[in-house]
Amino acid sequence: MSKVIISTLYDSDVFKMACRQFDKAADAINLPENLRDRTKYPKRCLAVALPIRRDDGSISVFEGYRVQHNLSTGPSKGGIRYHQNVTIGEVAALAMWMSWKCSLVGLPYGGAKGGVVVDPRELSDGELERLSRRYMQEMVNFLGPHVDVPAPDVGTNERVMAWMMDTYSNHVGHIEPSIVTGKPISVGGSQGRREATGAGVAYLATRYLEDLGLSPASSTVAVQGFGNVGSEAALAFENYGVKVIALSDYTGGVYNPNGINVRKAVAYVRSQKVLRDLPDAEPITNEQLLELPCTVLAPCALERVITEANASKLRCRVLAEGANGPTTNSADRIIDERGDIELIPDVLCNSGGVVVSYFEWIQNLQNYYWDRDEVMKKLYAILDKARESVEYQKRKLKFSRRLAALTLGIQRVADAKAARGLFP
Ligand code: GLU
Repeated sequence: MSKVIISTLYDSDVFKMACRQFDKAADAINLPENLRDRTKYPKRCLAVALPIRRDDGSISVFEGYRVQHNLSTGPSKGGIRYHQNVTIGEVAALAMWMSWKCSLVGLPYGGAKGGVVVDPRELSDGELERLSRRYMQEMVNFLGPHVDVPAPDVGTNERVMAWMMDTYSNHVGHIEPSIVTGKPISVGGSQGRREATGAGVAYLATRYLEDLGLSPASSTVAVQGFGNVGSEAALAFENYGVKVIALSDYTGGVYNPNGINVRKAVAYVRSQKVLRDLPDAEPITNEQLLELPCTVLAPCALERVITEANASKLRCRVLAEGANGPTTNSADRIIDERGDIELIPDVLCNSGGVVVSYFEWIQNLQNYYWDRDEVMKKLYAILDKARESVEYQKRKLKFSRRLAALTLGIQRVADAKAARGLFP
């Protein structure tokens, strides 16, 4: 009965996709029947109406969500997304993936995600600040440094986190930096957090290139998405000496088989806002980018871009999932059957962000701050360990790499639930 009610609330292609991944993983490890629904479905969610005063004096109401998928293994953790297409089902799927991600890399966190249905580019700075503060105010009793700790995601950034931290701090009457991560360094952010997700994607991808006997200098990469994850991943690939042949954002892509200077592209986007018309590169579409011949393909934008329609046309050796959920279930199957692509699944590939969020939270709680070298060293050590555990599981059980990563993440959450028992 409860199954029907919950799945109706979140009903969407992306939630179904996350559920199918779960079901497959639960079958593969024979997860006991009486642990399945408990582990699979989100624990709770809050939907809020967010009225804000516009610059012209009118009032607009936006819709916001927070889904807490699992609170059994620690406070829940996950970003807040601002995007015009956000739905509660999408937020629930993203929250579920946060649970497996945190669990896989061994963080003492459950999974959560938030979202607001808004195109942040259409708001002024003042409107964005009022919306962000109102979101935090509405969530005050639902969040907490030991309850649920948000962070940036698509469409949000350090500035938004600073406003949210300030709003929460005003509410409790003292500064509480540990309420969100991904803050500016001036208000308790961690060294390395801004780069962490993209740096982790490039780090892991180069480890898999090594396994294939390919050097960075002989490799190329195409990166979809030029937000925080895509731009930092592209910079990190460039630093490793991998040739960046294509980039894209929501307006389309740019391509140069001889290499794009990523630093210049970052400066161009800072002044022009979009990649469109980047000098020394030819325009391509986002769809064309995915099908380019390249060594590494890194989708770093939104879900469900690699589908049944293009999975057989990919021409990469390594598929590095910087985004959450970029590959649909049927595309996954096609990639498995092809057997010629090393797929680094999202829950491993983009986990660098939440790992450094964890470091930020620890630093906030201890009020003791680390230097960048320490942060990056600890980050790479955790990524190496997670990668090794995935490779071991993959070999031992003859799983795909995604199934190996998901089963490890799911098993740990289920074990915690079994150990804690049921109350009452
Ligand atoms: N939004 C990021 C993710 O999807 C980061 C979450 C966090 O740092 O809590 O992993």
